Amino acid sequence: MTPNKKFGFTTTILHSDRQSPIEHGSLHKPIHTSVAFGYRDARQLASVFQGREPGYRYGRQGNPTVSALEEKITRMEDGLQTICFATGMAAIGAIAQALLREGDHVVSSAYLFGNTNSLWQTVNSQGPRVTMVDATDVANVEAALTPQTRIVFVETIANPRTQVVDLARIGALCRERGILYVVDNTMTSPYLFRPKEVGAGLVVNALTKSIAGHGIALGGSLTDTGVYDWSAYPNIAENYRRYPTQQWGMAQVRAKALRDFGASLAPEAAHHIAVGAETMALRIERECANALALARMLEADDRVQAVHYPGLAGHPQHQLSAKLFRAFGGLFSFELKPHIDCFDFLDRLKIAILASNLGDTRTLVIPVAHTIFYEMGPERRAGMGIAESLIRVSVGIEDTDDLLEDFRQALAG
Ligand SMILES: *Cc1c(COP(=O)(O)O)cnc(C)c1O
Repeated sequence: MTPNKKFGFTTTILHSDRQSPIEHGSLHKPIHTSVAFGYRDARQLASVFQGREPGYRYGRQGNPTVSALEEKITRMEDGLQTICFATGMAAIGAIAQALLREGDHVVSSAYLFGNTNSLWQTVNSQGPRVTMVDATDVANVEAALTPQTRIVFVETIANPRTQVVDLARIGALCRERGILYVVDNTMTSPYLFRPKEVGAGLVVNALTKSIAGHGIALGGSLTDTGVYDWSAYPNIAENYRRYPTQQWGMAQVRAKALRDFGASLAPEAAHHIAVGAETMALRIERECANALALARMLEADDRVQAVHYPGLAGHPQHQLSAKLFRAFGGLFSFELKPHIDCFDFLDRLKIAILASNLGDTRTLVIPVAHTIFYEMGPERRAGMGIAESLIRVSVGIEDTDDLLEDFRQALAG
């Protein structure tokens, strides 16, 4: 069965576990909690540890429940191979740990999830150089490239201001220069967009968000799409060059990041995420429809200063987003007119919950400048287009009318 070709998105996820034999014909992959594994004999033990035969060595490097989830994500992204991590940040951190050395250079979009922005500051102080650019203009990305540039990193829809970069043109630029193109697909998820189609070599997903959808487990993943030619990458150690070229990158990431730094996904979390993933297409359809309805209502209200959502015709990258994505996502942000206090407004909401996290089934709201983007200070916030009164809304699957009414009464209050 090659479900990506024959079956739709949800059918593929639902039937993915059964593609390999499971004890008692169980329909779900069981939660394997064992840290160590058994072997037929000493020779097989040695052969598994030397990578000459498939098998598990120790729970930090791999686990059957986690592998089943990795397989699901590989199918979702139409990729070659996936490695899961304890969190989305661990997956992004693994890129720095395994693939960057002193003197290497990264070009990153400046419009980023706050913790990724912070991670690049850390990396920048440890040897590799990171340049952040306004990547909505491809010319800025091109101008920042140097002969040492190993990686270009972008998000699909930037969290929280929803800027969208020309993903395909940046992909073409990376391909031309032999640069590894890394796309964080968290805000779109593989249901709305497959970065492989624009030439991404590695795809990041924070599984915590839309893929799990329930907000009860943290997780992250890196998927190798098979698009990037690892023989062009200078930092692959001799040890990993003994595998077929297509596997070099992930072999090094699994050893140098997952094994050596140890941010492994727990099997219990992998199971929670896998169960959540079964309904992701249904949830995301509803979230996108709710987000569009709510964004349109707010845009038409004269107490609202601005609404940032790629689904609105006035969004600077509306056309581009319509071309790239199946729908416009479940997240938008907005600013109230200056005479309305954003804290008072938030306190009047009855359904939307004051919380961080996104891609949850419940609608979550957060004043970003005062919380998740507080540490970076007003100047850097302004540089990312984040107004002090900006409210981020991660739209859930509630009944549309209930959500609209909640925001309506909070505005009126
Ligand atoms: C949440 C998020 C991450 C990090 O994921 P965690 O699981 O919270 O570590 C990375 N990128 C984006 C775009 C995110 O929204």
